[in-house]
Amino acid sequence: MIMSAYQPVTPEIIALLQSAVGADAVTTAPAELQLHAKDQSHHAAHLADVLIYPTRAEQVSSVLKIAHQHCIPVTAWGVGTGLEGSAIPVFGGISISFEKMNQIVKIYADDFQVTVQPGIGHKDLNAILARQGLFFAPDPGANATVGGMLANNASGIRTVKYGASKDNVLKMQVALADGTLIDVGSRSVKQSSGYDLLHLFVGSEGTLGIITEATLKLVPVPSLMSAVVAAFETVEAAVETVVAVRGSGLDPAALELIDAAHCHMLRETEGVDLSDHPTLFMEFHAAHETTLQAGLEAVQAICQEMGALSFRATTDTTERKKLWHARHHSYEIMVRSHPNYHFFIMDVAVPISAYPALIGYVEQLKRESSVIAYMIGHAGDGNIHVEFPFADEAEYERCMVLNGLIIEKALELGGTITGEHGVGMGKAVYMAKEHGPALEVMRAIKQTLDPKGILNPGKLFID
Ligand SMILES: Cc1cc2nc3c(=O)[nH]c(=O)nc-3n(C[C@H](O)[C@H](O)[C@H](O)COP(=O)(O)OP(=O)(O)OC[C@H]3O[C@@H](n4cnc5c(N)ncnc54)[C@H](O)[C@@H]3O)c2cc1C
Repeated sequence: MIMSAYQPVTPEIIALLQSAVGADAVTTAPAELQLHAKDQSHHAAHLADVLIYPTRAEQVSSVLKIAHQHCIPVTAWGVGTGLEGSAIPVFGGISISFEKMNQIVKIYADDFQVTVQPGIGHKDLNAILARQGLFFAPDPGANATVGGMLANNASGIRTVKYGASKDNVLKMQVALADGTLIDVGSRSVKQSSGYDLLHLFVGSEGTLGIITEATLKLVPVPSLMSAVVAAFETVEAAVETVVAVRGSGLDPAALELIDAAHCHMLRETEGVDLSDHPTLFMEFHAAHETTLQAGLEAVQAICQEMGALSFRATTDTTERKKLWHARHHSYEIMVRSHPNYHFFIMDVAVPISAYPALIGYVEQLKRESSVIAYMIGHAGDGNIHVEFPFADEAEYERCMVLNGLIIEKALELGGTITGEHGVGMGKAVYMAKEHGPALEVMRAIKQTLDPKGILNPGKLFID
């Protein structure tokens, strides 16, 4: 257990920070603290005492040295799109925003790699890489920072083909709790020298160290892409099709489940040609036209065999982009459709064969309760997001009961309490159930790397 008696951020501490990183990089302006007090989750806001805007790793190191010496909490902030409260500075102290540490350090086009500062948005990065015919594949939809993505091990719609953030990073520079800068991993795609520290820091939500630089794996932009939309009478038929597509050896670059309610909202607001039925959005990538067409014919045969009500495939870039634009904005569209509601989005993931059982269970809970809930998910990865609008405390409590039941079901099916949103504040209570004695190993690692417990306290562990 980590015992800490955090010290307040006094005017003397502010002065120390200003002399270490420059007065311009330090602010206590209430409006700026407010902007960094809450991410996109349903968790309550909390203000940091001081906000730092570093531009260089050495500044991050200096801030941590001061924080470590004076026992002050430090929470990293990417761009606050997290959905489990992991960037909220619940113990106050110092928040480090990576907004200004957002440069590309070097593109290694011949190695399909790029080294970046952590504050760069993955969409901004991909806009630049596109000029070289390359892209960084993980895509959580929101313009999350690379640092936030690595800290949460974010995934997204293309993970089914290209993997999660952890699969697309080779090397990182990390500032430890005492400010020491270390390099973990290697630009060599193979490395078997010692413990895999790189992946210890990936997914650690800023609780073990702060990422100050990352070298990412890139892939060539595919020469041919197609989008497929297939609607089904029931959500069960749609998810059985997901299992069939995955089992067929086809290699979708995206395989998403959109429930009937979302399809309705996307048609009404974005003009996407969808019916009010559970629908699969898919994408396929290929280097040759014949390969692409053969894949599309195979997926059409599977969908028809599984009873699809409709099947549409397109290689038209505008239509494909419109579809994915709508999918990416489905959350905002849902929020706009419920003007007086708050939202919380939960995610769990299970092995693909258990996906129909998980989705069937969520459908059953929806039928048996009075709670409003929508489903959208990275079905190809066995990952589902259940979205709960709530208007008051009583509704929130009812959603939380369903949230708990879905988490328990995912674990019973051999899955995990979170596929991609991370543990943050909301899932900490379930960590022991998922990890058992392994949670004590995690605590021991935390104690070793952060003995004073200053890095992002209040996350991952319930005490
Ligand atoms: C509409 C919407 C859709 C989303 N869809 C997806 C999805 O499909 N897949 C998915 O995985 N996620 C999704 N998310 C969640 C979110 O985008 C991811 O969790 C993302 O990784 C958060 O990145 P961020 O830059 O906003 O980080 P923040 O939310 O600011 O921070 C997230 C965590 O990273 C830590 N952190 C930030 N920078 C650093 C650093 N340099 N070093 C160490 N720790 C750091 C923070 O302390 C915090 O613990 C979605 C969110 C929204 C709002």
